[in-house]
Amino acid sequence: MAELPDLWTHHPSSVLAFRPGNRVTDIDAGATPGFRGDKADAPALQAERNAVFADLQEMLYANGKTAGDHRSVLLVLQGMDTAGKGGIVGHVVGAANPMGVRYTSFGVPTAEERAHHYLWRIRNALPPAGHIGVFDRSHYEDVLVVRVRNLVAPEVWGARYDEINAFEKELVDAGTTIVKVAMFVSPEEQKQRLAARLERPDKYWKYNPGDLDERKLWPQYQEAYQAVLDKTNTDYAPWHVVPCDRKWYSRLAVTELLIEALRAMDLSWPPADFDVEAERARVEQA
Ligand code: ADP
Repeated sequence: MAELPDLWTHHPSSVLAFRPGNRVTDIDAGATPGFRGDKADAPALQAERNAVFADLQEMLYANGKTAGDHRSVLLVLQGMDTAGKGGIVGHVVGAANPMGVRYTSFGVPTAEERAHHYLWRIRNALPPAGHIGVFDRSHYEDVLVVRVRNLVAPEVWGARYDEINAFEKELVDAGTTIVKVAMFVSPEEQKQRLAARLERPDKYWKYNPGDLDERKLWPQYQEAYQAVLDKTNTDYAPWHVVPCDRKWYSRLAVTELLIEALRAMDLSWPPADFDVEAERARVEQA
C-alpha cells in the first residue's frame, strides 16, 4: 500500500491535530503545514492519492457487503461559508464510488427536524456498514450557529458538548471511525471568494446574501469554534484543523486524513465464500 508521498514532511493527521491550548486566532489559514511542495505539485499528487483512497474505499465497501464487516467511516466537515466544504466533497470524496458514500448536508432545521432532539437528523444520516458518511455541516452547528445566534438558552447549548462527546463515543464503539475536519479560511480570502461568486453567473447559486451577516459575527464564530475544539477533541474522535485559503492544500490534506483512517482499519479484500476452482470450471462450461 502506498506510503505517504515524500512531498509531505509530516503526516497531516499529526501536524493538523488540534492540541489542547491551540488558539483558533493563531491559525494561519494560508499555511500549508507539513507539505513541502506547492500548487504545481497538487494536480498529479491529488490524482494519485485519489486513486489510493478509492481503492481503500472499495475494500471497505466490499467488506461491508460480503464479509459482514459492520465498520464505517464518518467524515465531518465544519467550516465558515466559502471554506471549501463543497470542494472537498467534489474533489476528494468524489473519487470514491458513490455506491459506498452517504452524503448529507445539514441546513437550517426543517419543521420536522425542529420537533425532534437535535441529534435525531444526525442519527438518521449515519453511514451504513461499509460506507463513508459525509457530513457537510453537522451536529456541531448546534453549538456553533445556535450559540452565536442565541437560538437556544446558554444552558441548553452548554450541555451539548458533553452530549456530543457521548454520542460520538457511542458511534466509535459501534465501529465508526470519525474524521473531524475544522476548515479555516481567512476573512480576506472569504471576502475574495464571495466577490468572485458575484462575478460569475455560474457561481450565483453558491452566493447567499445571508452569508454576509454571518461574516459580521466572525469573532463570535471564532469563539464558538474555540469552544468546540477545546471541549470535543477526544482521543476517540479528534479534531483536525485544516488551513483552507489554498484549496489545493486542504484537499490534499483531507485526502490523506481519509487514507490514514482507512488504512488504520487494516482492510483486506474479502476472501471468496465459494470454491474458486469449482466456479472457474463452471464458468468455463457455461
Ligand atoms: P451552505 O451554506 O453550506 O451551502 P445551506 O444554504 O443549505 O448550506 O444552509 C446552511 C445554513 O444552515 C448555515 O447558515 C447554517 O448555519 C445553518 N444551519 C445548519 N444547521 C443549523 C442548526 N442546527 N440550526 C440553525 N441553523 C443551522
